[in-house]
Amino acid sequence: MQVHSPTESSQIAPQGSSRLRRSSAMTIALLSLMVGLVISGFLYINQQRALVDGERKDIRTLRMARQAVMETGAAVSNLMIQRNAAESNVLDYARALNRLNSFSDDSFPGSVPRGADEIPTRVILNLLKSAWTDMVAAIVGQQPQIAQSLYAAREVNANTTSLLQAILRELIRSEATEAQLNRNISLATNIVLGLQILTGAVCILAFFMASRSSARDSRGRDLAIGAANASREQVSRLFEMTEMLQSALDHTDANAVLRATAGELIPEFGGALYVFNNSRDRLTLSTTWGRPENEPLPDTIGLQQCWALKRGKSHINRPDSHKLCCEHHGVSDYALEIPMIARGEILGLLQIYCDGDQAEERLQGIAGIGAALADAMSLALSNIALRDKLRSQALRDPLTGLYNRRYMEDALERVVRLAERERTEVSVIMIDLDHFKRLNDQHGHAKGDAVLRDSAAAIINQLRETDIACRYGGEELIVVLPNCGLEMAAAKAERIRASIEALSEPNGAQVSASLGVACVPITSNSSRDLLANSDAALYRAKQEGRNRVVRAPSQKAKGARSEQSGAANSLAAE
Ligand code: GH3
Ligand code: MG
Ligand code: MG
Repeated sequence: MQVHSPTESSQIAPQGSSRLRRSSAMTIALLSLMVGLVISGFLYINQQRALVDGERKDIRTLRMARQAVMETGAAVSNLMIQRNAAESNVLDYARALNRLNSFSDDSFPGSVPRGADEIPTRVILNLLKSAWTDMVAAIVGQQPQIAQSLYAAREVNANTTSLLQAILRELIRSEATEAQLNRNISLATNIVLGLQILTGAVCILAFFMASRSSARDSRGRDLAIGAANASREQVSRLFEMTEMLQSALDHTDANAVLRATAGELIPEFGGALYVFNNSRDRLTLSTTWGRPENEPLPDTIGLQQCWALKRGKSHINRPDSHKLCCEHHGVSDYALEIPMIARGEILGLLQIYCDGDQAEERLQGIAGIGAALADAMSLALSNIALRDKLRSQALRDPLTGLYNRRYMEDALERVVRLAERERTEVSVIMIDLDHFKRLNDQHGHAKGDAVLRDSAAAIINQLRETDIACRYGGEELIVVLPNCGLEMAAAKAERIRASIEALSEPNGAQVSASLGVACVPITSNSSRDLLANSDAALYRAKQEGRNRVVRAPSQKAKGARSEQSGAANSLAAE
């Protein structure tokens, strides 16, 4: 029994969770990328720092080498200026040269332009060292002129200057490289710092979004749980309704259950129930609820007036719309009309009314509950109809449609007791068709059946609603007339006799009946008496020539007769 249409929350939840999964995956990918970038940044900075350290070492070496070249050159110049080889001066030179020799050839990178060529600085250094050695040897040998000429011939000054300039150039290049590396480090540090801040921000944002989405999820879950609870409640109410409808004995009971259930499940909607009449040519209003009194609903609806019945499908009537509206719809509300079908047969029509804002949408929203109500109700109506049919089969004679003998005996007992209590009269007419055996023999059994059916209909036509007509057995019929005296009953019996006699012509056979009438309290005292007395009167009618009405004698007359016969008997004895 599906009554609760899926709510938005339950539809949103899967979409929301897939979106959440997608955004979580993107956030994780972004965070991984940023952490990777930060780690690469750290590695890059470390590598740059190592390069800076290398450059600084080179710069220090270059400065020291330059210092050593200058000190060695100065020591040689000192020796030349003083023109004697004082031991301390020679020692200074030797110390300076030793320091210079402690530098490897790699400590003197680059080259020195010489004409069109480039001479490696270490070659220049070796030339200088050899010139200085020779000059110092000349000075120590007391030959300053030779030292002087060596100075000029071996281009000591030019070579020294070239070497120092080469070292200076290399120094400037190294310092520029160091500065560039430092700038790289500072830029990379800033980038890594920015990335760290960004990663933190993304983490905070992801946390914020995750908590918001989790709050949304939990709201969605709450909504879904609420909807499921409401749906469960509706289903349990509908089960309760179905169970109660099973105990409904008639339409009044079933209508009460429907009104109560609809009032609980859809309290803000009005409603009405139409059911088929006996001849099944139109629907009659069975019950209404929640309807304004100034807008009465029609008592009957023709089958051809209703789109829901014609299509066998639910239909919404909109009062001011150009869309299809049933002919019978004459009120200002919107109405959802649901045909009630059970065992393939249309049993009636359930209407649910709504007015005000978004009436149509609201009706569509409760269409599931309406259909469930209609289902439960149609099953109940079908059961009631079935029960009525079974009851009628148990009480009625199938050929004539009149009540059977058992029912008549019970009813007669009831009616007589009531009459005694209320001091009113009850009459009985016992009817027996004349020469019915002959009619059967002459015209066949089927004709006999038809005459019996016609006679029953003729009798019913003469009766009030409260009168009870029964088939007593064979071709004998009985009518019980509550609240009816002997005279009136005899007059009615005469009309019945005449109407049965009138069946002769249409049936092409002689049809007549003899009738005996009895009445409580005029002719009889009890129900048994009534039957016996009417039977006796009927017997007399047969005796007197049939096709007539005979009344049972009144009790007074019977009493007088018995007194007379008593007196006659005593006279005879005397
Ligand atoms: P009388 O005028 O004395 O009542 O004569 P009768 O023939 O009507 O009476 P009798 O009791 O002899 O016969 C009754 C006949 O009614 C016998 C039976 O065949 C016929 N009958 C009884 N029930 C039915 C029925 O359901 N259908 C038909 N066709 N005939 C029936
Ligand atoms: Mg008979
Ligand atoms: Mg008869």
